[in-house]
Amino acid sequence: MKEYRIDTNCIHAGYHPKNGEPRVLPIVQSTTYTYDTAEAMGKLFDLEDSGFFYTRLGNPTLDAVEQKIAALEGGVGAMLTSSGQAASLISVWNICRAGGHVVCSSAIYGGTFNLFFKTMREMGVEFTFLAPNAAEEELNAAFRENTRCVFAETLSNPSLVVTDIEMFARAAHAHGVPLIVDNTFPTPVNCRPFEFGADIVTHSTTKYMDGHAVQVGGVIVDSGNFPWENGKFPELTEPDESYHGVVYTKQFGRAAYITKARTHLMRDLGAQASPQNAFLLNLGLETLALRMQRHCSNALAVAKFLEADPRIAWVDYPDLESSPYHALAEKYMPHGTCGVISFGVKGGRQAASQLMEHLELASIVTHVADLRTCVLHPASTTHRQLTDEQLAEAGVTPDMIRFSVGIENPEDILDDLKQALEKVSV
Ligand code: PLP
Repeated sequence: MKEYRIDTNCIHAGYHPKNGEPRVLPIVQSTTYTYDTAEAMGKLFDLEDSGFFYTRLGNPTLDAVEQKIAALEGGVGAMLTSSGQAASLISVWNICRAGGHVVCSSAIYGGTFNLFFKTMREMGVEFTFLAPNAAEEELNAAFRENTRCVFAETLSNPSLVVTDIEMFARAAHAHGVPLIVDNTFPTPVNCRPFEFGADIVTHSTTKYMDGHAVQVGGVIVDSGNFPWENGKFPELTEPDESYHGVVYTKQFGRAAYITKARTHLMRDLGAQASPQNAFLLNLGLETLALRMQRHCSNALAVAKFLEADPRIAWVDYPDLESSPYHALAEKYMPHGTCGVISFGVKGGRQAASQLMEHLELASIVTHVADLRTCVLHPASTTHRQLTDEQLAEAGVTPDMIRFSVGIENPEDILDDLKQALEKVSV
């Protein structure tokens, strides 16, 4: 099949209807699939044949969307999950059992931090959290004998730190482990981490990929590039007795990791996406490239306005030349980063609350990366469970406003900010 560019793939990849079939990806709302013989179905259970037998493990609607996202990221396979949280959990647990250790950037989404710091620690996995701008020597020093992967966000939520993916990948590979990158904020339209050495990519598809705030979902994408046969990953290179002794690397080659994630962990954890949600996600993906362009141009206009306004204490947006991450953003995301801006208003936490109350177009929601402009105060919402020290490590200050610029007319977004700023009295 012809190779298309990413914006064409956003529309067409993954679903190629044949003569007389529906032009639009259908929702296959069925848990089961019929076969002529028990033997034919048995081959599916033995992983000798491919096909659908139960929607927890695979479904035609999910499959098409998985193929589309794998094409967008440039991977060998993808697996949709019920949420971004499930994607983060499965991406690590797939290769890091109890007794394992993970090197992790401290600039990550608060929910991911909780998952790692509390739940996965309770599951027996140890984590070393490291400043994302740590020097390479410091990064290398964080590895242990039992380290099984490195985890970071391309562009962190909400602190907008740009990870030096090449440096993280270099350190991970020098220690024989893969780099997992959460690429939620830039999306593959703005950054394809595999091109810089990342091995596994995850997303909360709840964000820009969907873009309309209509489904919660996640995805894991496998680059197919990591050499698992270095003795550190017996779960992939030794027989899986729960699957008739299958050796994933032998039977599935470059798709070993993503196949195990499905046949082992999706089988056991059941955190699959629903066909309806996969359909909705696909509608969002169709316009992803167009929307990302508009999110970025609108956000740059807002960031420049805020930076020039004397009532604003600070603005963080990697596309601004003043950002300490501008050079990394230009390297990894030359066409723009995302629509999210962080800023502080003079007057601190109280002024931040006042500004948010007076916004009319922008709504106060927990959500981010939506086509509607929305706003949030991380310290009192998404990150409220963190201690002051953890907040500082995650790059969240008490006065931080996370402003998620939508795709409305930019003048309307600016007018809304201007009228709200007029009303701040602190
Ligand atoms: N990763 C990032 C960067 C996020 O921003 C989020 C949610 O905000 C998640 C993961 C978790 O995703 P979900 O809310 O879909 O479970």
